[in-house]
Amino acid sequence: MTTSSLRDRQAAGLFFTWSAQSSTRPLQVAGAEGARFQLDDGRWIWDLESQVYNVNAGHNHPHIKARMVEQIQALPACAPNALLEIRARLGELLAEKTGLTKSFLTCGGSEAVENAIKIARLVTGRSKVLARRQSYHGASLAVLGISGDARRAPFERDLQESYLIDDPFPHPEVPGDGPSSWLASFDRLLERVGPASVAAVLLEGLTGTNGMQTPPPDFWPGVRARCDEHGIMLIDDEIFSGFGRTGTWFAVEHWGVRPDMITVGKGLTSGYAPLAGVVVSERVAAHFEDQKLWCGLTHYAHPVSCAAAVGSIEAIEADGLVPLAAKVGRKLRVSLEAFADRFPGIVRVVGRGMMLGVVLDRPADVLVEQGWTRDLYIPSRADTIFLCPPLCLGHDGAEEVLGRLEEAMKAAGLDVASA
Ligand code: PMP
Repeated sequence: MTTSSLRDRQAAGLFFTWSAQSSTRPLQVAGAEGARFQLDDGRWIWDLESQVYNVNAGHNHPHIKARMVEQIQALPACAPNALLEIRARLGELLAEKTGLTKSFLTCGGSEAVENAIKIARLVTGRSKVLARRQSYHGASLAVLGISGDARRAPFERDLQESYLIDDPFPHPEVPGDGPSSWLASFDRLLERVGPASVAAVLLEGLTGTNGMQTPPPDFWPGVRARCDEHGIMLIDDEIFSGFGRTGTWFAVEHWGVRPDMITVGKGLTSGYAPLAGVVVSERVAAHFEDQKLWCGLTHYAHPVSCAAAVGSIEAIEADGLVPLAAKVGRKLRVSLEAFADRFPGIVRVVGRGMMLGVVLDRPADVLVEQGWTRDLYIPSRADTIFLCPPLCLGHDGAEEVLGRLEEAMKAAGLDVASA
């Protein structure tokens, strides 16, 4: 089967995501191992997008596959509430890793965020949800209406009213002892909206494709304090930044804050099966002991997905991938900053761990193309490239990627500032 005939057959029967169909040039991936995948022509490519920022434990991991196969052989389909060892184990692991209590599982991240919002509304009896303008929380209509991501644009007139924190980035800090500009803009919004009507504040642990921005140190603790003061639920969306991506299990740990709920997805199963969820605190869990939880899905806690999640969490733990991501991420960041000193076409380096971005003074496409000819698969948005490889990249892999990236930067003309 040639690539073009497979493309035509697939394009005839299935949509491609987020694109005009005729302009899509999909890859044909024949296999994958660790931090790389292989094309049908035999080329091995460094996967700096971890497919969709989700293959955290690495490609073709034997332990995750073994867990899934074991479950497929034992019982591959089962009703949502039925008792299963693999479900009980996943609940325990999620509580252990997040420091929270109980999980509601979903098929994907957008649904996880929607269910977190339903839970916040059920618990508080209020309805408004505040979020950052520069954020993404999913593609369903309810969730598109909550964040400020550009993907909401075609549906604008059908969306619910949104309440967006105007967070300046990079943050020009006000000198003196007052709150940072991020916290000050949150305070202004809270005041305008009226805290007593707010059910939840929804924040990404570390912003994903909206710029991988690291908030100033007072932001998360300040938001937590105001949520406590006004009885508002703090929802931490770790769908992108969770499961070791930033060098801690969850990005919010960098600020020492405990949210009321954490949404998880993507790296939860390392992409081996669809699964996401919302993990809630003891207080939230207790609310539903005698109140009905108005949430449910046909494929709730799918046995094979649960097995993939248990396998992935165990693999991340056993392979030491969280501390490795922190160490290799530091090395990548230092090297990228050294590139920024040498290449005038680099404006700034952002992010932490294996969740990094390089902002250019021009559209990123030219660097993406130059990377591709050097076997680097580089995700980008506007003027920013992202470096989010599987956490197993390691020191040798990082050296290899940095060498190729440096060559690509030269070939893209970043040694001269854009006119
Ligand atoms: N929240 C965040 C922070 C995300 O990055 C994403 C996906 N990019 C989502 C929610 C939505 O997840 P899904 O695509 O699985 O619905």
